Amino acid sequence: MDLQLKDKVVFVTGGGKGIGSGISLSLAREGAIPVILSRSPITDEFKKDMESITTNYEFIQIDLNDTDKIKGIVDDVAARRGGIYGIVNNAGANDNKDLDTTSWQEFEKSIHGNLTHYYELVHASVDYLRKSKGSILNITSKTALTGQGKTSAYAAAKGAILGLTREWAAALLDDGVRSNCVVVSECWTPLYANWIKTFDDPEARKKVITDKIPLERRFTTIEEIADTAVFVLSPKSSHTTGQWLFVDGGYVHLDRALS
Ligand code: NAP
Repeated sequence: MDLQLKDKVVFVTGGGKGIGSGISLSLAREGAIPVILSRSPITDEFKKDMESITTNYEFIQIDLNDTDKIKGIVDDVAARRGGIYGIVNNAGANDNKDLDTTSWQEFEKSIHGNLTHYYELVHASVDYLRKSKGSILNITSKTALTGQGKTSAYAAAKGAILGLTREWAAALLDDGVRSNCVVVSECWTPLYANWIKTFDDPEARKKVITDKIPLERRFTTIEEIADTAVFVLSPKSSHTTGQWLFVDGGYVHLDRALS
């Protein structure tokens, strides 16, 4: 299937690592031009993987917490590349800011790091998206719907992303711009590997988690998230907007009694 993404410019935040790297590579395979916005430099391994597909991509180093820098980057890319088709808001991290020990100041700082740049990237790009009849794809977390018990700020940010997905779908209906999100539950990435290390027995914890994933008792792969994300972002998914897609092996919705 041709996803009709050839030569379309798509921003991918956190697009050099984990889920974002899978999305950038999948976009490149479809002939799109990924513009990666991320804090750490891309690795040689990622560069090699990307350049085995295309050299027509960009990496722009930015800490998205420096939200004021986003608009200048958007305008510059749009001017050089002749517009913007898509936004993949993906960068974020579960920072475990819990209810007992997190001050409101720390709460707000965490919200800034996981939410505000999602808003600002779309805010800064919206006229370019209108012009291209483009598409927005947000990545969020199951914690928005299930909680996790120790992560108030992250859960709040991820819940807000569900709301923004619907709000932007509604706000941009008349412009033909679509907005959707993919909800991730348990996907094996560098972030996940670091998080699991915080448990006393990471291997035992891994088994507790995978035993509760109904389909095949395994983690979702980066490619499984990326392929759904890129399809929904693409013009081939032309009548889908305001949707929350759960690529999670049934983790959030299937009957707990299933074994
Ligand atoms: P990851 O492997 O850590 O990759 C995230 C990338 O985003 C990294 O390159 C990171 O840069 C970058 N990033 C984070 N905050 C940034 C900022 N303020 N400015 C610039 N770059 C920033 O994480 P992942 O597991 O792929 O997660 C991607 C998204 O999926 C996140 O929104 C996460 O909340 C969500 N998610 C993941 C899971 C899962 O199971 N993995 C579950 C639910 C939701 P650095 O390398 O510099 O940190």
